[in-house]
Order: sequence, then C-alpha cells, then structure tokens
Amino acid sequence: MKYGAAIAMTKYFAKRSIEDSSFKHFEDTFEEGEISNVVWMDAKMIASYARFGDVVVFDTIFGTNKEKWAVGTFVGFNHLREIVVFGAALMCDQNIESFEWVFAKFLEAHGDKKPITIFTDQDPAIGAALKIQMYEEEKEFEDAFLFLMEKVNGESNTLDGESNTLDGDSNTMDGESSTWLKFIYKSKEKWAYCIMKDAHTLGIRSTQISESFNSKLKVYLNCKLDVCRFMEQFDRILEEIREKEITSEYDMRRKTSTLKSNMPIFRGVSNLYTTKVFELFQTEVELSVLAHIECLEGNSYTVGKSAFDNEATCKSRQVVWIRESQMVSCSCKKFERVGILCWHALKVLDREDIKVIPTRYILNRWARAAKNNTVVGVEGRRVIEDPMLDVRNRKADMVRMITPICDEAANNEEDTHFVRNEFLEFQRKYKEYKEKKKGGDGTLATEHALHLKKKNGGDRRSKRIPSCIEKNKRAKKARNKTISTSQDSLR
Ligand SMILES: [Zn+2]
Repeated sequence: MKYGAAIAMTKYFAKRSIEDSSFKHFEDTFEEGEISNVVWMDAKMIASYARFGDVVVFDTIFGTNKEKWAVGTFVGFNHLREIVVFGAALMCDQNIESFEWVFAKFLEAHGDKKPITIFTDQDPAIGAALKIQMYEEEKEFEDAFLFLMEKVNGESNTLDGESNTLDGDSNTMDGESSTWLKFIYKSKEKWAYCIMKDAHTLGIRSTQISESFNSKLKVYLNCKLDVCRFMEQFDRILEEIREKEITSEYDMRRKTSTLKSNMPIFRGVSNLYTTKVFELFQTEVELSVLAHIECLEGNSYTVGKSAFDNEATCKSRQVVWIRESQMVSCSCKKFERVGILCWHALKVLDREDIKVIPTRYILNRWARAAKNNTVVGVEGRRVIEDPMLDVRNRKADMVRMITPICDEAANNEEDTHFVRNEFLEFQRKYKEYKEKKKGGDGTLATEHALHLKKKNGGDRRSKRIPSCIEKNKRAKKARNKTISTSQDSLR
C-alpha cells in the first residue's frame, strides 16, 4: 500500500477507534515496512459473530484498481435469515501467508471462537491457510470447510441429494496441505457435494447471502477511488444492510405468528422463532401432522409420508427418542444441518406425548430474542453495538419536542414569525453557552467559580455595571451577528 494510502487508512482507523471502543484493526506489513494487508471489525460485527458466527462465508472480491487490492468479507446469517457481516480485510497480497494472517487476526478479534462451518471459494491459498490457522485437527477441518457450492457445483439443489462416493476416499487425506490440495482439485465436486449432506450450514448453499453485498463492493473496488473513499463506501453499504436489519426486526416485533396445528407440543412455540424461521418450522409441523409413524423395537420409530399423500414414495426416516435425556435424533439430520427439528422428529415427540419441545432444540440463534443478550468482548468489556445509539436517542428526543411546535406554528404566518424569532434567540443563547464551555477548562462550573472569584476582588473593569444603553447595544450587536450567520441553517 502506498504511503499516502497507508496514512489515510491509519487516520480512518484512529477515527473509528475514537467513535467505537470495541473497534479492532490490524495491519500486516511487508519486510520494507509497507502495509500489505489489513483486517478490521467494529462493535456490531463482533456482537453479530458472537451470536450468529456458527456458519461463516468467507469470500474474496478482486478488483481492477491500480493497487490490486482484494477485499475479503466474513459474512453469515442472522436470526432473521438475513446477511450480517462479521469482519473485513483489504489485501494487497493474496498468498497463503496473507490469508493465514487474515484468519489469525479474525479469530483473535473474536476471542478465538471458530465457526462450526466455513464456506470459501476454491482458491487453494484460502483452503491451505484455513487449515493451518483455524483447524488443528484434520477431522475438525474436514467437517468445517466447505467450498462455495455455486462455484463448485453450479447448482444449489444438490443439498438434499444422496452421495456416498467419497466415504472411503476421505481417509486417504494426510496432514500435508499439498496432498490435500491435490486431492481437492482432483475430486472437488464430489467432495463438496458429499460433505454438504450432513454439515451444519443453516441452509446456506451458495454465495447467495453475500452476492448483493459483494457486487456493490466490487463496483467501488474497480473505481479509481483512494483507499479512504473506498472505506467510506464500504461503511455506506454496511449501513444499508444494518438499516434493513433494524426494519426487519421492527416488523417482526409488530407481528405475531400463529401455528396452524393444535397439537399440544406446539403451544408456546409460536412466538419463540423469528418470522422467517417460524415459516420453515410451520412447514415441518404441517408435514408431521400428516405423517405415518411406525414403532420399531425399543425407542426407535420409522416416520414417512402417509399412504394418502402423493409423495408417499418419499424415503422414510429412522428416529430415536431417549426419554431420560429428552433427546431425539433423526437419520435425515435436519436439526444438525439447519437448526430446526424435522417433521419426523416432531411426529415422534407428539407420539411420545411430549408437551413441550426440549429447549435444546430451540436454538437461540433463530429466536426472536436472539439479540437480547449482552456480548462481552475479548477485553472483558460489554460490547456497545451502536456507539451512536445514545446520541441518536437524545437527538430523537429533541426533535420530538420541537416538531409539534413547528407543525402548529406553520399554519399561521404570525406564529411562524414568533417561533422563528424565538429559535434565533435560542440559537444565540446556545452559541453563547458553547463559547462559555470552551473557555477555562471547559466547564460551566469553572465559569461560575471564576465569576465568584472576580466578585471577590478581580479585575476593576469587570466591577463596573454597564448602563442600560450599553447593555442594549451589546445585545443588539451580538444578535445581529448571530442572525446573519444562522438564518440559512434555519431555512
Ligand atoms: Zn428427519
């Protein structure tokens, strides 16, 4: 990164750190001391990852800008099944060491919490870096790492398909990245396809969740923007995503969901899930009502579609219920993959006369209250997600006080004239107040103390009480000055 860009970047990070005490940024340098890569995340990203960082999509966008930066984004799904951003990186260098450094810093900022599943594109450098940095055990890595399906398979509808082509082959992977890479390139389609079947993906099948975010970023990445302007655009796009989240959350809180089933087990579930997840759950409930169930020996069941159902040929599933530990498991593995119970398991719970769904099967990440908990950062301090919230609330409070006055006064010219003059007078007083605060050590209390001190024997000139004419002259002068500089702002 050129010297000017590095300075601009440093200034940007310094500004963000002042505004947001949880803001984190890391700079990697080449041997000559030039900045090569940066990683950053703000309070909101840190809180989002703490709540929804079980599945992460890491995608890179390569720009055609003259400095050849690439932007790496860590994103995922929130409780509303909408995109949330967990962190970002700007990379001048895209080799294995760089990705390794990016992942290390990402984990460091998030208290070393690793995602259960991570999707990436098929860049060999990313795969190798992930393996080295995030997952120490081969098995842990195999379970966690997924290629972005769209780039690998082209189709996303293979998620629920059957595949056993790789079961034997996967044992041939050894600890060497190079061997692993050769393997992955040889059979990447089968490999991704196979592992997707049981992985915890939340239903993410492709780059779908980051597509619109990344396409907007790419526009700015290809422009001739300097790094500072690019960061401004990044923040603007991020703000759009966050505003949408606030709107969706607000809409969700205004709506209540109603289950179509009267089965006792579902009472009380209606308002636990967010609207979108509730819709998915509703589908499972409807299927479970129509399902055919057969008791096998012990605590096992076979659950399938009813004989009257057109899709009765659909494969039946085996469900095991353990009453003592209140655990249910189904061979379709839907709960493990998506985080909601499948209709097979729901049917068994109903048959077993379970009145309440065991709490372990209602994931907090899909709950309406998913964001109610406090997130504590790596320093042990509470993460304040929106550092400007207090400012925004105070401003909204003042606007609420002023708006009705303006609304009423605007109906009458005389009233408008009166209110405008009062506002101008108020503006003058506020300016005076600010100037007083600036003097001394900046507090009005000090000003008051100074006033007392002068009263007790300060400067002789201050003791003389001005005449009425002098007072009026001074006030008029000050008022005219204020009016001339402030009228535009009120119009
Ligand atoms: Zn199932």
